[in-house]
Amino acid sequence: MNDTWGGEIMLFDTNISAAVRCKHCGKLVIKDISLFNLSKDREHEENCNCGKNLFRIKSSDSKTFRVYINCIACDKEHLYVFNSRQVLSEKVKILSCPNSGLDIAFVGNKKLVREVAIKYQKDLQELIKVLEV
Ligand SMILES: [Zn+2]
Ligand SMILES: [Zn+2]
Repeated sequence: MNDTWGGEIMLFDTNISAAVRCKHCGKLVIKDISLFNLSKDREHEENCNCGKNLFRIKSSDSKTFRVYINCIACDKEHLYVFNSRQVLSEKVKILSCPNSGLDIAFVGNKKLVREVAIKYQKDLQELIKVLEV
């Protein structure tokens, strides 16, 4: 087993962010998650400001994470599995709904998630403008 990364983990920020579109109020909400503070085998829930559940995250060994996202596009819950090393070293993962193909969430580096979220929000506002005309 290749476990050489233990020594280099301090180089990474172990906080990631997840931007998820709330299926209840439609807002794109950014949550910071500290991967190594997640309790083992306990589900961690994040709620939107509107009080509804956005997503659930679970890790059994702090290497693999399961994220269950309430999908705004198809009203189902989707499971995405991540490797912590991947999430922390890659930029931003865009999660899309397997049924509709729509992007429903972004996960990854805090700063980049915010950048992507702002851009996405802008695009969406423009899209809404177009639709409203
Ligand atoms: Zn909401
Ligand atoms: Zn979906």
